[in-house]
Amino acid sequence: MISRDEIREILREYKTIRISTLCSHSALQIFHGAKKEGFETVGICLEDRVHVYESFPLAKPDYFITTSSFDELPELTEKLRELNSIIIPHASLIAHVGVNKVLEMAIPMFGNRLSLLWESNREKQFQWLKEAGLKVPRTYSSLEDMSEEDNLFVKFHGAKGGEGYFIIKGGKLKRMVEAGEISLENVFLQEFIPGVRYYPHYFNSLIFDRVELLSMDKRVETIDESYRGWPEMFDEFRDYTVSGNIPVIIRESLLKHIISMGRKVVETSKKLFYPGIVGPFCLETIYNPKRGFFTFEISARIVAGTNLFPNGSFYSWYIFDKPMSTGRRIAYEIRLALEKGKLEEVVY
Ligand code: AMP
Ligand code: AMP
Repeated sequence: MISRDEIREILREYKTIRISTLCSHSALQIFHGAKKEGFETVGICLEDRVHVYESFPLAKPDYFITTSSFDELPELTEKLRELNSIIIPHASLIAHVGVNKVLEMAIPMFGNRLSLLWESNREKQFQWLKEAGLKVPRTYSSLEDMSEEDNLFVKFHGAKGGEGYFIIKGGKLKRMVEAGEISLENVFLQEFIPGVRYYPHYFNSLIFDRVELLSMDKRVETIDESYRGWPEMFDEFRDYTVSGNIPVIIRESLLKHIISMGRKVVETSKKLFYPGIVGPFCLETIYNPKRGFFTFEISARIVAGTNLFPNGSFYSWYIFDKPMSTGRRIAYEIRLALEKGKLEEVVY
């Protein structure tokens, strides 16, 4: 990973600050928010997507760096530096470039790069969540662990957005493994948690020294529509691939859990990878009224569910007296850090 000293060196040569990201995922929100905070913006964009970003004048980057393939991105850092860019990482950047190359990029990045390393690996994520005292679904590492009637959720390493996941009883899975129909090498086995999903979007602010709850969503996955009309469930509906998001507000008496989970995750991150998580993150949770909240994943950067709230949400209005999306919140933190001479604390 590139060192903080090298990044500081680059930052010192900057004459101004522009906010940059890859044109995908939550880029419209990031550019829109940066412009609201008075920054110019730089979009790294596939040639055939420029028209998409030109269609939204208030969220269109001021400068485009175009490329024919995401593979070339690591080579574009020089252009990004010439434009005095700070890059905002999101899931598409990581998915298309690969976390190791992202960590090496010689370009100032908002947040702590180490948090991307911790979120890139499910075992590390669970270590982080468990050390924070959050409840996580039981995981299974061998066939001996599981009983006939256990409800398992099978995930694939490196799967994108829930693709190919399936549910199965412990006994059936054992028989499939023994018959050589599936190998446990490439899978991550979790207990299936029945309940309601909540994806709170947090922001850890170094400037205000607090963890903010900015908004909350729930993902839309094919399985969610499986009630539509057929008495029997068809197999094609057993699909957890995310294709959209809907806003969700939680019962106010449950907020105490949401807020405390966010704070604990931040406190633990400071011990695991100093100075811990900086800026936006999201916990993927399932609430079971009898068993409480389970967290099955952490995203240590802006999540696409925040795209629902370009003008802020039913939570951000109780923190800021102006429309505050997560994209804008990032730019706001950068602006305050600049004003206080603390940019190097929020950009690595
Ligand atoms: P994409 O650039 O659309 O292929 O997205 C890259 C990754 O970001 C996907 O593999 C997903 O894990 C995640 N992602 C994209 N869009 C969403 C969304 N609307 N909600 C949740 N995750 C998303
Ligand atoms: P993930 O790739 O971990 O974000 O999971 C994709 C989707 O699978 C989630 O959005 C949930 O709908 C579902 N899911 C993941 N883990 C569990 C679990 N342990 N129990 C029940 N549903 C889950």
